[in-house]
Amino acid sequence: MNARVAVVGGGYAGTMIAKELDGEADVILIDPRDAFVNVSSSMRAAVRTEWASRPFFSYDALLEHGRVVRGAVTAVDPAGVTMAGGGRIEADYIVLATGSSHSYPARPRELNTSAADAANDLIATSAQLERSGSVLILGAGAVGLELGGEIREAWPSMRITIVAPSSDILPGYLPEVRDELRRQLQELRIDLRLNTSLASMPPVEDGRHSSFTVTTTTGEEIGADIWFRTFGARPNTGYLEDGNLITLTDRRTVPVDNHLNVVGYDNVYAVGDIADLTDSKMATWAQTQAPTVIENIRSHLRGERPERVYEPATTARILLPLGTRGGVGQLPGHDGAPASAPLEAVIARKGNDLFTARFAERFTRTSS
Ligand SMILES: Cc1cc2nc3c(=O)[nH]c(=O)nc-3n(C[C@H](O)[C@H](O)[C@H](O)COP(=O)(O)OP(=O)(O)OC[C@H]3O[C@@H](n4cnc5c(N)ncnc54)[C@H](O)[C@@H]3O)c2cc1C
Repeated sequence: MNARVAVVGGGYAGTMIAKELDGEADVILIDPRDAFVNVSSSMRAAVRTEWASRPFFSYDALLEHGRVVRGAVTAVDPAGVTMAGGGRIEADYIVLATGSSHSYPARPRELNTSAADAANDLIATSAQLERSGSVLILGAGAVGLELGGEIREAWPSMRITIVAPSSDILPGYLPEVRDELRRQLQELRIDLRLNTSLASMPPVEDGRHSSFTVTTTTGEEIGADIWFRTFGARPNTGYLEDGNLITLTDRRTVPVDNHLNVVGYDNVYAVGDIADLTDSKMATWAQTQAPTVIENIRSHLRGERPERVYEPATTARILLPLGTRGGVGQLPGHDGAPASAPLEAVIARKGNDLFTARFAERFTRTSS
């Protein structure tokens, strides 16, 4: 009988690991959703109705041999997982890949929102934006800036204001990348207000057309017809809070060793946003970590000692499109040192399709 691998969380890392091990082990992928969400395309999906369904890839076509169980895991022990509702799934190897939560529209409203409902929410948001003449975006991280870029491309005359307490955009990236980003934001007439925040949150629901005025902590008044929150990612590790398997870090992440095992367990792995690694919480790194878990589980399956070690990233990389025509990037250059990516590369590698083609491939059965 094949060994059983339970992969908890069907995001960037979890689906990669489940697909790779499918057939070599009895794979069970567990997720409350019915579809993988390529969150890289969420912002365009909230703005353009023709994109509303594109972030979602049904789990139906991921595995040829294994199965997908729809539901949330509520507890984990080294022999298996407990499901909401009390069911239990036993496993020889367990991969925890439950990622993070984020405010809507960066991610669907609830953890178990179906792809159909999530697409309808995005279409409704686009309609709310269509009625608006001005938008306030809270947060100047990549998510907030991308949203500003998408809105500008769809509505050239919309007044766009971004407010954030940080002193600059993209801290930690090359000065020339940040200068170019600031230049493009100015060209796009996106009013970026840093070093400030709102004295109190807008008095109306986010993502809905409803005019309001707010005051910043530096005393400025900002009026807008709609607003979005684009900060506040949180690791999805509530199911480990009982401390039975492991004590979470202060950041609510999972301590792992250099094989990506949850510390103290050679059959339980943690990967992606929940792993307590110095890597930025990005899909890029979740998918760079995943092969270490795949290789180490393969060694277990062959009866060998897992030896693959993960070295966290030492350089920052990013592709940040501002709509389909703008954006900046930082990637390793020929010598491996970080370099500013030309606009054409940002558009070709991400801006055009926001990685949709890549996931269409992952979610297609190889034998069909
Ligand atoms: C708007 C936006 C755009 C982004 N764009 C980029 C980008 O362009 N490039 C990049 O590198 N990074 C990007 N990121 C960051 C990236 O999305 C995350 O780093 C990435 O999703 C982490 O992948 P993961 O595999 O750890 O988990 P996730 O992809 O978050 O997947 C976790 C899965 O676990 C499931 N889950 C949660 N709790 C449970 C539970 N209790 N039981 C079972 N399943 C559970 C969830 O439903 C989800 O399907 C973006 C983030 C946002 C919000």
